[in-house]
Amino acid sequence: MIVNTCGFIDSAVQESLDTIGEALAANGKVLVTGCLGVKKDEIIELHPNVLGVTGPHAYDEVLTQVHKHVAKPVHNPFIDLVPPQGVKLTPKHYAYLKISEGCNHRCTFCIIPSMRGDLDSRPVGDVLGEAKRLVDAGVKELLVISQDTSAYGVDVKHKTDFWDGMPVKTHMQQLCEELAKQGVWIRLHYVYPYPHVDKIIPLMAEGKILPYLDIPFQHANKRILKLMKRPGSSDRVLERIAKWREICPELVIRSTFIVGFPGETEEEFEELLVFLEEAQLDRVGCFKYSPVEGATANALPDHVPDEVMEGRLQRFMAVQAKISSDKLQARIGQEYLILIDEVNSLGAVGRSYMDAPEVDGKVYLSDDFDAKPGDQIWVQIIHADEHDVWGVRVEDEED
Ligand code: SF4
Repeated sequence: MIVNTCGFIDSAVQESLDTIGEALAANGKVLVTGCLGVKKDEIIELHPNVLGVTGPHAYDEVLTQVHKHVAKPVHNPFIDLVPPQGVKLTPKHYAYLKISEGCNHRCTFCIIPSMRGDLDSRPVGDVLGEAKRLVDAGVKELLVISQDTSAYGVDVKHKTDFWDGMPVKTHMQQLCEELAKQGVWIRLHYVYPYPHVDKIIPLMAEGKILPYLDIPFQHANKRILKLMKRPGSSDRVLERIAKWREICPELVIRSTFIVGFPGETEEEFEELLVFLEEAQLDRVGCFKYSPVEGATANALPDHVPDEVMEGRLQRFMAVQAKISSDKLQARIGQEYLILIDEVNSLGAVGRSYMDAPEVDGKVYLSDDFDAKPGDQIWVQIIHADEHDVWGVRVEDEED
């Protein structure tokens, strides 16, 4: 068994260590890989019987270790069924497209750079090649992910690579333009609001990529953002959001925030609530500050007591629930193209351009059993709650 671990926050470390224990109890032959692998000594101390430990993105090392303990298979073209696009863990109709590893920032609450290193962008030709193979294999939605999507190519000075015989720069904008040609939904995650993000918005307005931006703002107060050492924070966030919406009125913005960061005062938290009201973001996640071993924010003074953090989290979520509910109510009567994810005993369940899988809302088509996962159907919204909507199909043909 191979246990792929996470070491991002303390609860993830504990879950990883517990899973290693479970795997050892169930099977006894266990290899450990992933982010927590950089703390090999801690793993071995707790679980001395693991066969090997490797760190993040150690694909070759993991395979070498597997072959050390299990005989290497002899390639046989008649039984080797691994398809050319590889094996992926997401459903057939959507896929994550990782464009880089690591991060050049040093946010004080985060230890990702110490585990995964500095930004390491994949060659744009490789990324586009993978996108094409996935689309050829039936993928209808590509989710672009990284630690910092806007910084794509900074480490290689945006060098020119080749794709399909044509020069393409290792840059977020050129990547988006080329991905748009694949003819599937392109959804951008982890975008920091650097100035060049403004150039991506027209691509959304023209329908080339989904009008959806996942921007982890984390806070709105200047002093807290400075203590967090956040990239791309500026005084003009609200102004820029307004400008983006002017260019692309359908734009949906998703974000995450941290409440109770060390030193956060009641006034600073209230400033965050005012920001939420003004920004009217569509999808929002919120977390209480959680100290991660090795994060420099741990050394900051005035940690906020847990009950205060909990109170702030509840107040934050109440404000956002009202915003989200009002926004979804306004969708009633409108028609959207829905990508079906599953069909269960109650009907079909899918998502519109406004919803990323796993993290956002869903569109329920009650009693609709004709759809199949991966179908794209026009649906009219008839009902909404705080996070999800219900709809009925308006035409039978797939779009
Ligand atoms: S941008 Fe900040 S939070 Fe995100 S991975 Fe880099 S250091 Fe961590």
